[in-house]
Amino acid sequence: MNKTTLLSLLFIGLMECSSPQKEITLNTDQLIADIEYLSSDKLEGRLVGTPGSEKARAFLVQRYEEIGAQPFKSALEHPFTFERRGEELTGINVIGSIAGKTDSVILITAHYDHLGIRDSLIYNGADDNASGTAGLLAMMDYFSKVEPNHTMVFATLDAEEGGLNGAVALASDSTFLERVVLNINMDMIAQNEKNELYAVGTYHFPQFKPVLESVETGEISLLFGHDRPEDGNQDWTYASDHGAFFRQGVPFIYFGVEDHEHYHRATDEFETIPQEFYKKSAQVILNAVLAIDEHLFN
Ligand SMILES: [Zn+2]
Repeated sequence: MNKTTLLSLLFIGLMECSSPQKEITLNTDQLIADIEYLSSDKLEGRLVGTPGSEKARAFLVQRYEEIGAQPFKSALEHPFTFERRGEELTGINVIGSIAGKTDSVILITAHYDHLGIRDSLIYNGADDNASGTAGLLAMMDYFSKVEPNHTMVFATLDAEEGGLNGAVALASDSTFLERVVLNINMDMIAQNEKNELYAVGTYHFPQFKPVLESVETGEISLLFGHDRPEDGNQDWTYASDHGAFFRQGVPFIYFGVEDHEHYHRATDEFETIPQEFYKKSAQVILNAVLAIDEHLFN
């Protein structure tokens, strides 16, 4: 080794010591891998009570454990029963948390169930709602590395399709709800041709509008609406799981896209997801949660 090499090695060593810490970002490769698995044929459309749903849940439990989420009330899996067409069914929510600086909770939700198999076609529900589920996992992973202000409770909910039953079950836990300051729900966040994403709920909770307007959205247009009584069947106030928490008085912001050609069709699958939009959409929702976490803390 000559002197010049020795000096350059010393220089590189010094550079590495003084370089700033690598910025922590949303793991979008993992996001895509997770939505691909959740919407694969192996999971047979994730209908509540089926083997496909069980596989989805085993995957979620594994991901929660890898990320290091704390089990909610000493368990990750939370079974509940409900009635549908005169039949008693069992669903299972998967719930874990990442501790923040305070015990007060921001509840992040996404339903993982979908429609199953119909007329021998698998309804993979990639946008509805493997997208929100994988988005939730990515956000959990982020907050496991960057401590939030609020304690973040992450609930992947079962049996949303046809009755919001998983959400209704969690919303019946009034002791828990007392700690929840806001529900952020994600349902269909991956599919839009115009780069548009909706933040629904500011009609009911106008205090969040300026916070959301301040969020860095890049190429995504973050739109408001779909939350007024005069919107008729396009009022999404009760259209997904956030509706069950809102009924119990919990404020919500729901992120989702306009209905599209693949909605509740067998073509809602991994291959039809525009991945660039999806990655940006998940990042915008994380930015919004960071802004709200800050706003409600100070
Ligand atoms: Zn859905």
